Amino acid sequence: MKKTRLSAKRKSALCLQCGKCCMSMTFFGGEVDEESRDEIQWIELHGFKIDYVRNDDREEYYFTIPQRCNALQEIKTESGATNYVCGVYETRPQMCRDYDGSVEGPTGVADCLWRVETEKLVQIGRR
Ligand code: SF4
Ligand code: SF4
Repeated sequence: MKKTRLSAKRKSALCLQCGKCCMSMTFFGGEVDEESRDEIQWIELHGFKIDYVRNDDREEYYFTIPQRCNALQEIKTESGATNYVCGVYETRPQMCRDYDGSVEGPTGVADCLWRVETEKLVQIGRR
């Protein structure tokens, strides 16, 4: 059987190249109703991205603030590439530890390198 999971070592290597889940914050806004439409307009006028998600019969929204984490460090490698490193890795918040790249919807990073590479492995495994 072909491998469809990434090793912990490979995941770490991909995160070093990527760093995207440390570059913005996405929050659940709530249900879209008359009251929240005004709030949504206010958020949009401040330049933040809104995502709408249908949850059964409710429409809900999320807003994303493109604010990098202050602990995210950029390190240049000998080859000139940029590596992204958490400056508080040992004491990073639990939500950082829980993020595994498979999170879907507005709170997930669509082009997370874990996800991209895992999808490739799954495709190869189907052949
Ligand atoms: S988005 Fe995915 S690959 Fe990129 S740093 Fe986060 S977990 Fe790692
Ligand atoms: S604490 Fe570390 S892992 Fe969490 S968002 Fe900041 S840089 Fe990323």
